[in-house]
Amino acid sequence: MSIAENIAQIREQIAAAARRAGRNPADITLMAVSKTFPVESIRDAYAAGLRVFGENRVQEFAGKANALRDLPDAEWHLIGHLQTNKAAKATELFDAVDSVDSVRMAEKLNAFAESAGKTLSVLIEINVGGEQAKNGVAPGSEELEQILRGGPRWGNLKIHGLMTVPPYTEDPEGSRPYFRQLRQIRDSIAARELPKIGTSVLSMGMSHDFEVAIEEGATCVRVGTAIFGERAKA
Ligand SMILES: *Cc1c(COP(=O)(O)O)cnc(C)c1O
Repeated sequence: MSIAENIAQIREQIAAAARRAGRNPADITLMAVSKTFPVESIRDAYAAGLRVFGENRVQEFAGKANALRDLPDAEWHLIGHLQTNKAAKATELFDAVDSVDSVRMAEKLNAFAESAGKTLSVLIEINVGGEQAKNGVAPGSEELEQILRGGPRWGNLKIHGLMTVPPYTEDPEGSRPYFRQLRQIRDSIAARELPKIGTSVLSMGMSHDFEVAIEEGATCVRVGTAIFGERAKA
């Protein structure tokens, strides 16, 4: 199937999952995760109507960004782990960093965004599964608390909500408790009405489990393989 056909099918699945959950499909953003795929594939997804793209490595996207400058209404999100020494480059290339998981990173991004005269959208990445190898700040941790209190200090960041990558299970139902946990964390943060901490975005769900994520409240699903095909193994 072509990229356009894949996207059409995913849109139907998104609509069906939204209906099951009594939600409006228009409230769910389909992010195309284009890591490892060439500019031509990104253009195909753009032509099929997608406007939000996710890349997980700063260096890789630096090599593609120039060839994509003519797509002004496309939104570029960094969804992978960011090293502090790439924070300046990331600020320059991306509209959004969805993987902020420390005060230190927020400080850096804010400083670079300020010098660049731009506002960076960010999500706080939460490690719901508590896996050692995964990025993200631990639920209930002091680090998370410090991020949540930092909002007013970071005038060039706009915090919109939370992101997570749960532990992988073959059965998409295995992700459900983690998605539910992220929604509950979001709800408890929202209830505190913290200054400059937006909670409208829940970025969760990938190719194999995005329908479950939508049933649990995802407002953004990050889909790579189901749009572009299998990635070459590194
Ligand atoms: C690669 C990646 C995705 C997309 O994964 P697929 O299984 O290919 O849909 C989503 N989120 C993050 C953070 C990723 O790194």
